[in-house]
Amino acid sequence: MTDVYQEQVKCPKCGGTVVLPTDKPTDDTPVKCADCNQSLGTFGEFISNMKKRIAEEIGNAIKGCENMSLKN
Ligand SMILES: [Zn+2]
Repeated sequence: MTDVYQEQVKCPKCGGTVVLPTDKPTDDTPVKCADCNQSLGTFGEFISNMKKRIAEEIGNAIKGCENMSLKN
């Protein structure tokens, strides 16, 4: 799971790779950019943002499929 997350995580400030805490992180564990040390909030916030983003992307993909099938 961690590998999948890391592929999708880029620092909004420098575009560098954000290293997520892997040693049993809690919701309060801070997440930082490995390159510029930019704080990206806590692990809990980070995961909920990621879930929101994935849900939106899946929602958009489903909408796209529905539109396609409705035209036929
Ligand atoms: Zn950075």
